[in-house]
Amino acid sequence: MTTELKNIHLSDHDFGAWEQGSLSDAQMEAFLTHTANCPHCADAWFAYMNHHEEHLPEPPAYLKEEIKERVHQPDVVIAQKAHTTSKRVQLLIYSLKVGVALAASIFMLFAMDSQMLDQITNFIIFR
Ligand SMILES: [Zn+2]
Repeated sequence: MTTELKNIHLSDHDFGAWEQGSLSDAQMEAFLTHTANCPHCADAWFAYMNHHEEHLPEPPAYLKEEIKERVHQPDVVIAQKAHTTSKRVQLLIYSLKVGVALAASIFMLFAMDSQMLDQITNFIIFR
């Protein structure tokens, strides 16, 4: 690339040099200027990065253990329990509301005397 960057498209070799950080400041500037102005090379660079993402370094092995330990520490456990509890309380409150509404409906149905029931029936039928 480098010397005639403005006339020649970038290659995988150039992307590799960028990835390894072996470009000089001037080369880096030319690289970025070219990719910013050349859709073809911008696409190629993007494709190169996507392709090489598979080769990213693995996370360190201790990280998994650290996360496992962290999950069992008191503050995290309490936060998790509070979240779960609040969901249960919400469900309980909702169930109570539905239960009370149902009980009130049934009570009203049985509390009405037959005369009132007739009035309501007439109102519904002859309105
Ligand atoms: Zn180009």
